Amino acid sequence: MDVLQMCRPFHIPMSVPYLLRHARKHAFNGGRSACIAGLAHTASNSELHSLQHARKRQGQRRDKAHFRMAAANSTGETSGKVFFFDIDNCLYPKSTGIYREMGRKIHAYFKRLGFPDEEATELHHRYYRTYGLALRGLVKHHDVDPMAYDREVDQALPLEQFLKPDPELRTMLETMQGVKKWAFTNAYEVHAGRVLKALGIEDQFAGLTFCDYATPNFPCKPEEVYYEQVMQAAGVTDPSKCYLVDDAAANIDMAKKLGWTAVHVADDVSAEPKHGDFQISHIHELQEVLPEFWPDGNVN
Ligand SMILES: [Mg+2]
Repeated sequence: MDVLQMCRPFHIPMSVPYLLRHARKHAFNGGRSACIAGLAHTASNSELHSLQHARKRQGQRRDKAHFRMAAANSTGETSGKVFFFDIDNCLYPKSTGIYREMGRKIHAYFKRLGFPDEEATELHHRYYRTYGLALRGLVKHHDVDPMAYDREVDQALPLEQFLKPDPELRTMLETMQGVKKWAFTNAYEVHAGRVLKALGIEDQFAGLTFCDYATPNFPCKPEEVYYEQVMQAAGVTDPSKCYLVDDAAANIDMAKKLGWTAVHVADDVSAEPKHGDFQISHIHELQEVLPEFWPDGNVN
């Protein structure tokens, strides 16, 4: 995969001492980083060197969260439309058992931090509701190392026991027309790649945007800044050209707030309130609600 070049437009004025300390320590803080260039003229030579070094590292880390896939299938992208695909519990159903197994591993992780059962469950759910990702709460409130968490939770999942290639999904993606397909996940790169490979669709996306656990305070869905980043990475500026399919209602709600078209893979499609423009119970039904992307007809 080639690294996709991108730059971040978000700037918050900060004092030079804070900026230096912050830039050295964190290099990148997930979308709320300081405008280093705008303040550099007040710094000494050594400070400037530190700033330049931090900015270089910052750029390297920014790029890491977005990759172009080497062999992306990209039929008819002339419309400028981009379809963003969530991965976990979206490209495969919760019934595979991964959702339950991941929940068990997260719970065990909380317990290893010293929380009793009940508190572990409460915190896990509260952090997921509050931040969109339990790990964000662990990092924010318990100074957990996200990379260690990833090794002990996501990377420890025996994915191949739960997932197998999905030829129906692959055909659906292969025959999709007039849109760029882009994977957009709250997982780290390693897990995302393993899932796509296990499903046999790793070559079907023009790019992948993942949560870069290696950077402090990395953004994730449903934070608005993460959606802005993925739009920039995928090369789209018009929200009306953006589409999202995702199983998390909060992620769907943010997409709608931004003016995207959103498809909710819901546990119960008849449940109220509804989220997004369309509700489906399985990713295979995507063609039924947005047939415009399959002008030759339903392929499955
Ligand atoms: Mg999901």
